[in-house]
Amino acid sequence: MRNVDHSPLTQCAHAGLPKSGAGRGANRPAVPPIVQSTIFDLGSSDDAEALFSGGRPGHAYTRFGNPTVAALAEEIAALEGGQGAMITSSGNAAVLCAVTAALDGRAGPLVTHPDVYGGTSELFGILARIHRVPVEVVDASDAGAWHTAIGRAGAVLLETPSNPLMRLIDLRDTVEQAHGVGAPVIVDNTVATPANQQPFAWGADWVVHSTSKYLNGHSDVIGGCVVRLEPLTPAHRIIHKNLGGTVNAFEAWLVLRGLRTFALRMEAHNRNGLAVARWLEARDEVARVHHPGLDTHPQRDLARRQMHAGGALLSFELRGGEPAARRFIDRLRLVMHAVSLGGMESLATRPAMSSHRGMSPAERQRAGVSDGLIRLSIGVERLEDILEDLDRALRA
Ligand SMILES: *Cc1c(COP(=O)(O)O)cnc(C)c1O
Repeated sequence: MRNVDHSPLTQCAHAGLPKSGAGRGANRPAVPPIVQSTIFDLGSSDDAEALFSGGRPGHAYTRFGNPTVAALAEEIAALEGGQGAMITSSGNAAVLCAVTAALDGRAGPLVTHPDVYGGTSELFGILARIHRVPVEVVDASDAGAWHTAIGRAGAVLLETPSNPLMRLIDLRDTVEQAHGVGAPVIVDNTVATPANQQPFAWGADWVVHSTSKYLNGHSDVIGGCVVRLEPLTPAHRIIHKNLGGTVNAFEAWLVLRGLRTFALRMEAHNRNGLAVARWLEARDEVARVHHPGLDTHPQRDLARRQMHAGGALLSFELRGGEPAARRFIDRLRLVMHAVSLGGMESLATRPAMSSHRGMSPAERQRAGVSDGLIRLSIGVERLEDILEDLDRALRA
């Protein structure tokens, strides 16, 4: 791991620059270059031999590695407190890469839970059906069933908090149980972000992100990354480059640019997210609000222990059900009706018609996603402007 002697705020503001000492000096640019080249001069025969045998660091072909992409990997690894990271072309590619690496050499099934991100759930369906990967989907809120499944797991992939109901999974407990049977634990930390939750501090082995969300934060890049607590091995890099979900320098550069304001953005997201959750909770039109920072969250104590802050993703239920929810969405002016999360702009969706559309009404009901549920991704706008928009939309 790089020697990090600055606070994350400072580290983010300098994202992509060489750290303390190496590479500093006259004429150094303040922003890392975009090395938009697929190939690199291999040098002499001896140089090439040294590169391919691992004797000298360097680059041959961008799918194997690229200086701009490597700068982003180093930055995200440091943010999570891991010792290595691999950058991918999407969050889904990151999940596939991490699951493949974690299951390598393991016999048991991949254990996960039903309320993981929709794309992850569909990917696991493909892995199970076509690739014949054993996948066991277990309700993590049923502690007995969850522990039993983990007790025979090959690897575990979990998301906490879950989306859109913001249910938490106890990382310390799950990791302890999984490590008891030698199963690596992958945590999708996209929603919490390293600002609000550090899975490696609870012993997780892998962290994955959709950098399309908070890490890039500008709703203009699809990307992902895989971070490992321990150093990456050559076998992990072989998996990464051959699964094919790698990126070019420009996308990596955009995420580096987004990261420069990450710490600042998260302060604003956390502040606005909690304020909106509390404001909604006090409204007569609202039956229920799901946000990990609220005192009414059923896992409040776990949230306080495991998370530094509750973040800016939340959902709430309107007393008026689906008709009221549709009306609410249609009356919004500032808050955009759009999927995804983690950008600077506030967004609203109705999961029953977007992310959970593929489920039958009965399945949705079992999952706790009612037709009147609205999910908000709160942005960094001035709080009063967000509340004014929500107020207008709520008043039927
Ligand atoms: C968006 C998201 C993903 C998938 O990321 P893409 O960049 O869209 O491929 C995975 N996990 C979570 C929690 C997400 O929010």
